[in-house]
Amino acid sequence: MDANEVPLPPPFTLHFSTDLIAYVHRATSLAGFPTCTMILDDENTTIPIAPQLIDVVDVLHDGRHSTVYVGRCQDSTEVALKFTTREDVLEEAGSYDYLVELQGKVVPKFCGVLYGNDSRGNDILCLMMERFGNRLDQPFHKLPTVEKAKILNKLVKIHDCGLHHLDFAERNVLFDGNDYRIADLRYVSDCDGSCSWTYDFEEHVGQDDSESMDPSMRCSEIRSEAMTMLFWHDAKLRLADLFWVSKSEDLPPQHVIDRLDVRTGIALHTVYYTEDRRLLILRFFRLIQQKLKNGEPLERLEREQMRIMYDIQKEWHKER
Ligand SMILES: [Zn+2]
Repeated sequence: MDANEVPLPPPFTLHFSTDLIAYVHRATSLAGFPTCTMILDDENTTIPIAPQLIDVVDVLHDGRHSTVYVGRCQDSTEVALKFTTREDVLEEAGSYDYLVELQGKVVPKFCGVLYGNDSRGNDILCLMMERFGNRLDQPFHKLPTVEKAKILNKLVKIHDCGLHHLDFAERNVLFDGNDYRIADLRYVSDCDGSCSWTYDFEEHVGQDDSESMDPSMRCSEIRSEAMTMLFWHDAKLRLADLFWVSKSEDLPPQHVIDRLDVRTGIALHTVYYTEDRRLLILRFFRLIQQKLKNGEPLERLEREQMRIMYDIQKEWHKER
C-alpha cells in the first residue's frame, strides 16, 4: 500500500430479508443484492455505529424520489436507510450536518452516509438515520391544538437555525406516539437573514386570533403554515360554512352545528346582505343552544330548524 493512501474503513453489510427479494425496489440494484457491502462516512454523526451486519427487514416508504428501509442492527437498534439520488443524499446530509444541534430533538438523529456500488460500479448512496416512529397519518388541521403547537414549535426551531423547510407536510412529520420529528430535509433553503419569529405556539394554545402586526410573528412562512393547520381556529366555531366566531357558552359545539343545515332568506324570499345573514345565523345558533340547555332533544330541533329560522327572520324584519 502507498504510504499516503488512507485505508478504507471496514464496510457495513446490508442483508435484505426474503420479503424484499421478491420484487424490484431501489436497493435491488446494489452489487451483491441481497447481501451488499457499503462504507459509512460518519461526519457529524449523533449516533456512532460500528461497522456490522444490518438486517434490512422492511420498507417504511417507497416513493417517486426515495425509498426508506428499516435496518436492524446486531443489538436490535433500528435505523432508517434512505436511498435516493447521490445529489439528494448529499444535499440532505448537508442539512443534517447543519442542524446538528437539533438532531434527536427536532429532526431525527443522523448516523452518516453509506456508499455502495451497483454491478457496473456506479455509486449508490443512502442516508442512515435513527428510526423514529412513523409518518403522521392524519391531516395537520385535524390534530388537537396542543399537538399542532408542538409541531409548529419544531418548525420554528429550524427557522431559528436559518433554514426554511420547503416541503413541510404531514408525510414529512414523524410521530412516535409521544413526540415529533421533522424529516425529509431535501428541500431546505437558507432564509434571507435570520428569522425573527419568537411567538411560542405551546404557550398560546387556545388563542383564537393572530394579530398580523404582532412583532413576535414576523415570518410569513411560519404564519402561513400555522394558518393552514388552523392553529388559531381551534378556539373558533365555523357557522353554516360561512364564517368563524370564537367559541362561547352561548353557542353549541361544532359537531352540533354541523348537524344543522341552516338556511337564510328562503322562507321569506328575501336576499340578505352577508352581514345580515351572519347576524341571523348567530341568533339561530344562540337560540338552538338555549333550547338544548332547556333539555330539548337535538333530533327535534333538527326537524324544526326551518321553522325556528323562519321565526328568527320574522322577528328581525319586525325590528327594522
Ligand atoms: Zn422564518
